[in-house]
Parts: sequence; C-alpha cells; structure tokens
Amino acid sequence: MKNSNTLMVYVECDEFAPINVSLEALSKGVELAKTNNLDVIAVLIGKFDESTEKICKDYGVHKIVEVAIDQYNIQSYGDAIVELINKYSPKLLISPTASIAKDIISYAGAKLSISCIAGVSKLEIQDKIHYTTSVYGGAVLQDICYDSDKTDLVFLANGAFKKELSPVDSVEIIKEDLPKPSNLYTIIKESVTEIAETVNLEEAEVIISCGRGMGTPEGLALVEELAKVLGGAIGATRPVTESGLVARTQQVGQSGKIVSPKLYIGCGVSGATQHVSGILGSDYIVAINKDEDAPIFEVSDVGIVGNGMDVLPIFIEEIKKVKNS
Ligand code: FAD
Repeated sequence: MKNSNTLMVYVECDEFAPINVSLEALSKGVELAKTNNLDVIAVLIGKFDESTEKICKDYGVHKIVEVAIDQYNIQSYGDAIVELINKYSPKLLISPTASIAKDIISYAGAKLSISCIAGVSKLEIQDKIHYTTSVYGGAVLQDICYDSDKTDLVFLANGAFKKELSPVDSVEIIKEDLPKPSNLYTIIKESVTEIAETVNLEEAEVIISCGRGMGTPEGLALVEELAKVLGGAIGATRPVTESGLVARTQQVGQSGKIVSPKLYIGCGVSGATQHVSGILGSDYIVAINKDEDAPIFEVSDVGIVGNGMDVLPIFIEEIKKVKNS
C-alpha cells in the first residue's frame, strides 16, 4: 500500500553532479510536496558526495536517502529502487527520462508489477493524481487520472518542468545499507565511452542535429563546424546514426535521447514525429531544410528554406563575425 504523505525523486548523476533533468524532477517534486503537504525524499544511488547533497539541498530537499553502490548494474540499482519503494511506500516516484533512470525504474516496475507512466508533461495532485503524457511519438497528448494503491512510477518529459532553486537550511541524510543481489545476470567488466560523445546530449545547452539531408561526410563536417562555433553538441536523426556517420549515443528522438537545450538547430532534418518528440522541450528551435513543406517547420521558431550545403557556410561565417565583433 502506498503512503499518501511521501513523494520520492530519483536523482540521476553524472559523476557526482545531478544532471540537469534530475534538477527539473527535483524542482517539480519539491513544488508538489509544498502544495500538497507531502514529504519529498531525494534518492541517490551509486556514487555521490557532499557536493551532490548540497545541490539537492539547494533545490529544496529536506531528506535524502542514499544507497552507495560502486559500479552500475541494472540489478543492483533496480533492486535498490524496489527495496526503497517497499520500505517507504511513496505515493509516487518521479524521475527524469535519463539513461540509467529508464533502465532501473522500468526494472523495478516489472518486479513490482507496476506500469510506468512515461513522457509526463503535466502533473497535478488533486483528490487523485492527474497526468498529461504524450503518445504516438508526441503526436497525441492524453490526460490520465491514476488511482492505484501502488506507488506511481513516473518519468517526466525532459524540459517540460523548469528547474528552480529553493535552498533549505538543513537536510536529513539516511544511508541505506541494502542487501546486494546474490546472482547478477550481467557483470560489467569494462565500460567504453563513445569517443564521439563529447557532451552529454541531455545536458547540452546547444544542439546541432544532422539529418539525412546533411548526412554525408561533407555535410556532417559543416554541422560539426557550426557546433564548434556555437559551443554545441552534435545530435542526429536515426538514419544518420544507423548509417554509422554519427554515434548512436547522439541520436535524438523517441528511440534516442529526449533533449531540452536552449537552442536546437536541425540541419536537413524532415521533422518526423519520432524525432520531433525528442526536441519539444527545447527553448528555441531553428530548422534548415530545402523543402519548404518539411514538417520540422511546424515546430520551429525560425525556419530557413535552403540547401544546407549553401546555408551553413554563410551561417558559420556570420556567427564568427558576431563573435569577433
Ligand atoms: P528524412 O526524413 O529522409 O529527411 C531528410 C530531410 O532533409 C528532408 O526533409 C529533405 O527535404 C531535407 N534535405 C535533403 N537534402 C537537403 C539539403 N542539402 N539541405 C537541407 N535539407 C535537405 N528518428 C529519429 O530521428 N530519432 C528517433 O529516435 C527515431 N525513433 C524511431 C522509432 C520508431 C519506432 C520508428 C518507426 C522510427 C523512428 N525514427 C527515429 C525514424 C523517423 O521515423 C524518421 O525516419 C527519421 O527521423 C527521419 O530522419 P531524417 O529527418 O534525417 O531523414
């Protein structure tokens, strides 16, 4: 049975720092806790230190539950989530839509027979909990009112909720020493970071995406140069990652990363729903496409109709001029 007074937020970290989308989840959790008189607990699993705790405190958390685990493994992390849900019976557990979070919370959901609620762009607690989620790759929004006696497992859509500092004076830290799974199905012996992954896309403030229209070595070189002058990260559509031109870690969209940069520039990207559903959290969208009817223009703040091979060199030169002026 869930406890109606507790709300948990899973805080995914990169090294010791909570990633941006975790801060969005924390901010939403703290806001819900304030307006509904709930206790909010931040959940840290893996490696963390005082700097991690300080950031949670700066975002308004009064209580942190910590589970120290040396190395990532879906079972050890996922079992930790299961144990914490069983122990604290939160009303809901909210999480960013991030790589580890997606693995371990879905794993916990399977073990606890709870379906996860994904792509949540609106969340209100009244007598029941009301969610707005997107389906069919973002083409349709649906309102769900959930009334279950189990903990709701909720993935927030990245970029849908703003991060907001609300520092508190003190924070209670609870260190949980949970039993380790005895039979690991997989053991990670070595992890290799994709050389092409220079910036975590979920963290990037500027993303320049390469679509099939620019999906040649020459086209990609221009996209990379634009990313360099703007200090941005490279994203790509699925055909471009499938061709091997750009690493799979850089794929944006339904089966890639859900991103929320300040600026997203799509170069030669048509704007299929499976891609667009991954970029709607961006603050500002610019599209360059030679087809004036390309669907990407429907979600763009600025659209440039033209051949990317001609437009990008001018774009790059103009930005260099502005930077040097
Ligand atoms: P295209 O659709 O081929 O578009 C290329 C565009 O470039 C066209 O609009 C064309 O006008 C323009 N163009 C051509 N030449 C130039 C030029 N020189 N200058 C300027 N413009 C030019 N896709 C994703 O991206 N991410 C996902 O996560 C993803 N997940 C999927 C999941 C499922 C289950 C399925 C079925 C599909 C998924 N897809 C995903 C694929 C998606 O449906 C599209 O096929 C894909 O996004 C199209 O990529 P694109 O825009 O690069 O290519």
